[in-house]
Amino acid sequence: MVASSWLTTQTVPSGAIASVRGFLPTDVSASLRSFAASITVTVSLSELTLHTRWRPSSTTIVLAPFVPADGSWSAGMSSRDRLVPLRVIANAVSNTRAARPWCTRVRHDASGMPLGTMRTLQGNTAARAYTRIPLASVDPRTRLPPASPVATLPFPETPPLCRIMERHYTIAIIGGGATGVCLANKIVEALPVGLSTATVSLALIDARGCIGGAAYAPDVASNLMNTTCGAVDRAFGGEFGILDWARDNPAKWQPYVGEGQLDTTTYLPRPVVGSYLSDLVQHATHKAAERGMRLEVITDEVVDITPPDAADGNYVVRTKSGKVEVRYVYLALGHLDRAKTEAYQDHDRYYHQPYPITRLTREIPKESSVGVIGTRLSAIDVVLGLVGQGHTGKIHCVSRGGRLPAVRGDQGRYEFMHLERDELVKKLVHAKAKLRLVDVAAMLGTEIEHAAGRPVDLGAIMSEDLPPVEYYEREIALAKGKARPWQTVLYATNRNIDLLWHHLEEEDKQILASQWLNDWLTYRASIPRENAERILALLRSGQLTVRGGVTRFWFDAATGNFRASFDDGSRLDCQHLVAATGSASRIEDADSPLMRNLLSNGLVVPHRFGGVDCVFETGQVVSRPGVVAGEPRMFALGPLTSGVYFFTTALEIVERQAVQRTRDLAFLLGDEWLELPETDAWVDAKQSEAPATDSTPTMPPDRGPDLLAHAVRGEQAQLIDFEQLRLLNDQIDRDAFEAADATGSN
Ligand SMILES: Cc1cc2nc3c(=O)[nH]c(=O)nc-3n(C[C@H](O)[C@H](O)[C@H](O)COP(=O)(O)OP(=O)(O)OC[C@H]3O[C@@H](n4cnc5c(N)ncnc54)[C@H](O)[C@@H]3O)c2cc1C
Repeated sequence: MVASSWLTTQTVPSGAIASVRGFLPTDVSASLRSFAASITVTVSLSELTLHTRWRPSSTTIVLAPFVPADGSWSAGMSSRDRLVPLRVIANAVSNTRAARPWCTRVRHDASGMPLGTMRTLQGNTAARAYTRIPLASVDPRTRLPPASPVATLPFPETPPLCRIMERHYTIAIIGGGATGVCLANKIVEALPVGLSTATVSLALIDARGCIGGAAYAPDVASNLMNTTCGAVDRAFGGEFGILDWARDNPAKWQPYVGEGQLDTTTYLPRPVVGSYLSDLVQHATHKAAERGMRLEVITDEVVDITPPDAADGNYVVRTKSGKVEVRYVYLALGHLDRAKTEAYQDHDRYYHQPYPITRLTREIPKESSVGVIGTRLSAIDVVLGLVGQGHTGKIHCVSRGGRLPAVRGDQGRYEFMHLERDELVKKLVHAKAKLRLVDVAAMLGTEIEHAAGRPVDLGAIMSEDLPPVEYYEREIALAKGKARPWQTVLYATNRNIDLLWHHLEEEDKQILASQWLNDWLTYRASIPRENAERILALLRSGQLTVRGGVTRFWFDAATGNFRASFDDGSRLDCQHLVAATGSASRIEDADSPLMRNLLSNGLVVPHRFGGVDCVFETGQVVSRPGVVAGEPRMFALGPLTSGVYFFTTALEIVERQAVQRTRDLAFLLGDEWLELPETDAWVDAKQSEAPATDSTPTMPPDRGPDLLAHAVRGEQAQLIDFEQLRLLNDQIDRDAFEAADATGSN
């Protein structure tokens, strides 16, 4: 049986051939903008092979093959005036169901047969076939290599979706720290512009404005990054990289760094990164206008969000001074302060938050004794910030463990032998494998030995309990002028830590979270050597002490001092007390009106290991059952997702999350457009405008994709990845191809 129609739903018996004709809009390419063309997609169900016939009016158009990073599904290409392959990897249908329900929908008809929606291209793909897919016969052997879009074709006019969007924002990103800014910029730069995205409007909302969030806001120069500029520059700002920015804006970093060069090995003062993030927002705002989108920064605190009251309704985001309606909400709330729970925390010489350090240096008298709760990165910031501004009084850093962060050796990128993300996806995700902690330890051990190029005594890495001075002398010596293999491996886990954690047995997750988290943070989050040397000098001079075993704090009215007690029975007095213990990992403990309201209205639920619960594959926030009508359109990323992804506080990690959310958003917007009743009519109208005759000169039929190289002219050739096309073409099932051709189904 052969059926054909315009973007309609078809059900055909297994093994039959169905064809769906229509426009296949893809990403935008300015050079292809003027071409309107029609397409035939032939779906051979028994083979799960799609063929396309592309009949352009004047040129060859290549459809973009798209494979998500996890390689789980793929599509092919078309060439001119002949059938060419567009193959969907079989297990795409079954595998992506859980991962990306909107990419490939599988429903069941009355007889229980699955009905699948095949999406063939990234973003705004408009052609789809609802069709019977015998999932049992799916052949997962064929896998295409990852490919990026090779060429693009926009929708030529304003989409119907825009009409219903005009009065609202499409997207609200709540939180304008590093994560929210990165996401906004990725959406603006990377979202395929087409019919469904032409008037996307974004509201980036931050209570304090987009000035750098918790880590990068304006502050003292001694707040150094613990990653080098090169690590940030790699992909974070897209086309607006930090090194290019620095080259063009020396006045923005020289006051912090001096007149020297700023290169990939520089550990930047974090306020410089904040300044870059502010400019990145400006860049994204202008870029949005260029791409037909809108990005607005709103400085206001969001206090509540109301879920849609119907499946296609909007979220209402309430701020202190108003409200906006949006279809998609991204929570990038970052590091939420802990709520105060103790009486001493209300004292005016107590600082519940160390940042900005300039507040401490302004308000704390220079000769006063200061207690710092915490001995990790923020505590180091407090000590160096105070002393850098002339503090002469004693500073005591105290915590339960009393361990200072490790010292950073030379930073290099480590390429895993076995644990690169793509490899892990195959081993863990596709196999639905479970890991034990010993497996992870063994795998990392093997990688560390590989990085070192020799057998390593892993026990020796965990340095014995040395007193702080000896510990830092040893650490600094080990870090001087060389990379530390275990460190490069641990830092490289930015690329896979979420997968390792997700596949860990529940019991082992409990053990890791309760017994090893502190060790992980101590070793994973190290400090640059130059800051360690300053700390060592202060330890030696006696101005700084570092102690573990603290059990309690209180304010002693009799002496007018804060007091800390220790497990050996000793006590310590100080005049000022600064909490440098990090943010609230449990959202129930956060001092956030928004989080309180979201928890109480059930839009978010806490994750057992901290943060909000969300779907691992998509970041879709999990709500209490029945709270959201229809498919939830609220997502989370950044530190708020620490329970689901384990370690989320690195720019490289939040950048990856932003890329994934952007890619998913492209699908969501494309799907929305497909659901609109106007879509069919629009496509019909476009079809009637299509040229009646094909004036393209005929090309030899047997030259495969090389035909493209001959047919594509000028600049367009640069848009096409011919190597990819050849690889894709190798996958053609020529029998099915010819069979389809023989039926004349186009
Ligand atoms: C001290 C410190 C040092 C770090 N150093 C490094 C480093 O060297 N290298 C590295 O890779 N990573 C580093 N990180 C980790 C990383 O870059 C951060 O985790 C990053 O700050 C995450 O950004 P974010 O936007 O998710 O969170 P945040 O920076 O916390 O930003 C969240 C934003 O959301 C806003 N917000 C929250 N609630 C609301 C609301 N209800 N309404 C409106 N706005 C709201 C806040 O005002 C804030 O601006 C560091 C982190 C910290 C804390």
